[in-house]
Amino acid sequence: ATIEERYREMFSNSVEWYERGRSLFAGGITHQTRFTSPFPAYIDHADGPYKYDVDDNQIIDYVMGNGSLLMGHSKPEIIEAVREQAGRGTHVGGASTHEVRYAEAVKRLVPSLERVRFTASGTESTYLALRLARAYTGKTKIVKFHEHFHGWHDYVTPESGQALGGVPQEILGTVIVAPADIAAVDAILSQDNDIAAVIVECNGAHYGTFPLQNPQFLQDLQDLTKRHGVIFIMDEVITGFRLSPGGAQVRWGLEPDLTTMAKIIAGGQPGSAVGGRADIMELMAFREDPEWDNMGRVAQGGTYNAQPVTAAAGIAALDAIANEGINARADAMSQRLKEGLNEAFIQNEVTGHAHGISSIIHVNLGADCSCDRDICNMPYQQIYDTMPAAKTRALRRAMLVNGVDMMGGRAFIVSSAHDEAVIDRTTAAFSQSLKDLR
Ligand code: PLP
Repeated sequence: ATIEERYREMFSNSVEWYERGRSLFAGGITHQTRFTSPFPAYIDHADGPYKYDVDDNQIIDYVMGNGSLLMGHSKPEIIEAVREQAGRGTHVGGASTHEVRYAEAVKRLVPSLERVRFTASGTESTYLALRLARAYTGKTKIVKFHEHFHGWHDYVTPESGQALGGVPQEILGTVIVAPADIAAVDAILSQDNDIAAVIVECNGAHYGTFPLQNPQFLQDLQDLTKRHGVIFIMDEVITGFRLSPGGAQVRWGLEPDLTTMAKIIAGGQPGSAVGGRADIMELMAFREDPEWDNMGRVAQGGTYNAQPVTAAAGIAALDAIANEGINARADAMSQRLKEGLNEAFIQNEVTGHAHGISSIIHVNLGADCSCDRDICNMPYQQIYDTMPAAKTRALRRAMLVNGVDMMGGRAFIVSSAHDEAVIDRTTAAFSQSLKDLR
């Protein structure tokens, strides 16, 4: 049987759900990465490193809540915290003890955060950080990098792998897209005096698919922005609490002006935050002076900012990260996976390699390079060409048939719940998939 025939057989109960979904959702789904061709596998529940679909297949999961579940699915301490808080109110309608304890738990791990504000998604956090930077500097433009992803609001959509429909031309004119090259950024900042901020995905575009030459690039960027009086925003939505308990900035000894955080910070619930220098963040403060609102005060709303269930889940997750050696465990499992995948390429005599740092591993199927497997040094366009959409779809489908779900057919987001046996089963599934794809 072909892979597609096996897929249709293995996930036969999902067909009906897809039919129902197609009449409800634009495009049949609610997030682009959830689609698998010819139809997605519909997931019913999840536990530890596994998720289970409507055919009750046990699938080793490397989507891990799009990177929000560093400790795997349904960690008992987090679920217990969520249950308990849900019974005591899901929105307590005022300043809460939860928000204070939540912010303290965040600050304990990320010392650069002199002040914090909670938001409800990563997209909101980058939106707010950019607004703060513009208000603080009195300047208009932002610099982002080719393919770097910071959510889906208008200011970060250009050259992020997303369509531009509906984004106003006026906004596109305020976004400068730079190559991840420090001399190029220096030239841009030197020539244009209207730049408020530089925002960067700390492990490289698309959660490290196109890695940066770190930590030097981020250090140079920090120095350069300081020299030009431009706000340096580290987008730690994916790297935060993963690359180390305090994220990329603590791992590499950096101190950004502003940091955006989401995913792991909220323990699998919807939630996010912006934090950083007090003099910037205090632009959000309320003052009795009626003139203040006209003088550049930064507004932020948000019904669900630090809602108590999110706060409870976030505190439980951050406590575990502070105390349980979660990061080291996930990193070690990730290292084992990377070695296993590279070994599978060799054993099957298939050209390709796996690379990545910390607990996210990427595969480039069809191209080899001389990289050290931590930081792939292939030019980004070449990586892109190596893994076109049709290929990632085929790999994801083959892996699913062999019991493993990859993030977008390109990456593995590893958690501390993936143990040695699970990693070795994954490597075997990958080896089998390479054979199946021949
Ligand atoms: N920034 C980065 C680096 C991300 O990886 C993501 C999401 O994947 C976002 C921002 C947007 O976060 P959200 O999906 O919560 O809006």
